[in-house]
Amino acid sequence: MTARIFTEPRLVIASHNEGKVREIGELLAPFAVEVVSAATLGLDEPEETGATFIENAALKARAAASVAGLPALADDSGLAVTALGGDPGIYSARWGGPEKDFGVAMQKVETALTGSGDRRAAFICVLALCWPDSGPGGEHMEVFEGRVEGTLVWPPRGDQGFGYDPMFVPTGGTLTFGEMEPTAKHAISHRADAFAKLTAACFSGAASDGD
Ligand code: IMP
Repeated sequence: MTARIFTEPRLVIASHNEGKVREIGELLAPFAVEVVSAATLGLDEPEETGATFIENAALKARAAASVAGLPALADDSGLAVTALGGDPGIYSARWGGPEKDFGVAMQKVETALTGSGDRRAAFICVLALCWPDSGPGGEHMEVFEGRVEGTLVWPPRGDQGFGYDPMFVPTGGTLTFGEMEPTAKHAISHRADAFAKLTAACFSGAASDGD
């Protein structure tokens, strides 16, 4: 099915993470759309009660769109480790504990992998774009999933990036995401993959001619 083309002048980024809002704004810079953050509009952050990346991204986009009365874009992402049945998955941020300590989270992954010869993992990013339509149904949602496959190394290497980057080597590479220049990571990351799908489907016809 053909995705709905985004034609509105403003888009709410349903995240309170200013880094994420800035990054998304940069990715959407070629398109004629003004990006506003949920925090700027004073929107609350909903609890991530979904059981999947898709459910969490959708509930965040829906909450922002319905309160703001504007289209909203949300993302949900994490690390899925094959031998752990996809964990930490949607709990990736929570494995860092209240301190969001990813040294602790990476150690937890490594400990859980003890004795397993299977070190495959993938970073996953789901983007949900929700229009708060009036009338029956009340909304329109488009969802895109990006992935990057790789393997986990120990000990962690590199101090670039964030989260689980220092223990993730993308397939075909030798450096961890933590050792790679940000531009090199952004060229192949799960987030870049999801954004490429989103912009190709919903924004390609809306590129500004630079005037
Ligand atoms: P979210 O902001 O609720 O989607 O949480 C995503 C969590 O997944 C982050 O806190 C990180 O732990 C992990 N994660 C997602 N993307 C990346 C990445 O590109 N590198 C490293 N960790 C990531």
